[in-house]
Amino acid sequence: MKPKWGMIATWRMAYEGIVEAVQSLERKQYANDCVELAIRHVEDFPFYKSVGYGGLPNEQCEVELDAAFMDGNTLAIGAIGGIMDFKNPVSIARKLSEERYNNFLVGAGAEKYAHHNGFERTNMLTDRAKKWWDKRVKAIHEKGLSPYDGHDTVGMVCLDSMGNMATATSTSGLFMKKKGRVGDSPLSGSGFYVDSDIGGATATGLGEDIMKGCLSYEIVRLLSEGKHPQNAADQALYQLTDKLQRKYGTAGAMSVVCMNPDGEWGVSTNVEFSFVVASHDLEPTIYIANPQNKQTVIEVASEKWLDQYQKRIHQPV
Ligand code: ASP
Repeated sequence: MKPKWGMIATWRMAYEGIVEAVQSLERKQYANDCVELAIRHVEDFPFYKSVGYGGLPNEQCEVELDAAFMDGNTLAIGAIGGIMDFKNPVSIARKLSEERYNNFLVGAGAEKYAHHNGFERTNMLTDRAKKWWDKRVKAIHEKGLSPYDGHDTVGMVCLDSMGNMATATSTSGLFMKKKGRVGDSPLSGSGFYVDSDIGGATATGLGEDIMKGCLSYEIVRLLSEGKHPQNAADQALYQLTDKLQRKYGTAGAMSVVCMNPDGEWGVSTNVEFSFVVASHDLEPTIYIANPQNKQTVIEVASEKWLDQYQKRIHQPV
């Protein structure tokens, strides 16, 4: 029997990174290395405007990045919030996970740590992201649009063929966020959580709402009760959505992906959501998920959808 391994990630943008990581997983590489490799791929691609290089800036036109890394065997966590001018935040987060203390650093402290540990300092604001920012400032001024539309975090959960699990996230957070704003993505239990004995989950969407339910931890908790990942994801996400609806009359966009140590996976969302899965018996595949009566309906992304996606990310600003 082929050894089991698997990887699941938020959004279409994860696809190329997963394709690369799959080659490593097939060669029996560790989940920790594969998840970092795949996320770096997304961070380096300038046309993904919500992660790493090319990420959209805050209201002051600065690119502040958040990222996290968690090792499912040791439960070690590293996280950074609001870091500026450093390449590959996920690798800085992973390095922090190896420390005994000071695992979550923000702003100037995170930058100092990255510098002392030899990470590459570079401008993360692209001309294209600056143009998006100019355009949004104008639109907010003229049409009163919500400044916070347009954000997506890449989050991945990985199981290797030895049974080790890892998770990581990386994001530029909400477009036009206040300087210093940190979302759920680097927050343990909210944006991510993994335990190799139970499984892992990661979230994307409005961080301010995801945090209210510690969504990723809640899913892992449900997995520990023996729930199938699909049921755990749907239960946690729709319960939180309902609760927010009751309390506020509205709930932000939220989507989650999760996997257990058997490589079984689940996904849930309250908006249209694309995600990527690969495993020992599934080629990297892009899916589209949609909510329907408190259940998630999943289909393989059509050629048409994929073409439109390519056009959208490369469209002139
Ligand atoms: N969760 C991220 C944040 O709130 C944004 C996103 O995933 O869309 O920073």
